[in-house]
Amino acid sequence: MLGKLARWLRFFGYDCELAPEKSSDEDVIKLAEGRILLTRDKGLADLPDSLYVPFDDLEGQLRLVHENYTIKMEMSPNHCSLCNGKLVEAETISGRGWKCTKCGQEYWRGSHWEKINAFAKQVIENN
Ligand SMILES: [Zn+2]
Repeated sequence: MLGKLARWLRFFGYDCELAPEKSSDEDVIKLAEGRILLTRDKGLADLPDSLYVPFDDLEGQLRLVHENYTIKMEMSPNHCSLCNGKLVEAETISGRGWKCTKCGQEYWRGSHWEKINAFAKQVIENN
């Protein structure tokens, strides 16, 4: 349910793992080690370094995270938005860009880049 939020936090450069559906609490806690746990589960949200995310919409979710942790909300190519693999600079089909070291996905500075930054700005400004 927080898959879209995870992708967007990766757009902003954050190391963000997504627990597979039907993961046990134990597996989720293990995956969250050394990270902040963003969850829809009120039980898990009682743990230290956890944040309960009640919202269904991306804008509400991003605003909540931004309010609680002063995260930088602009495109920052460090982590693959699909798999969270590390990105390295590379030659792509659209010129100089980045490539995921895990799944091979290529990224470059296209029109989506400005759209993502514009949406992020709107989330912060509508605060
Ligand atoms: Zn990847």
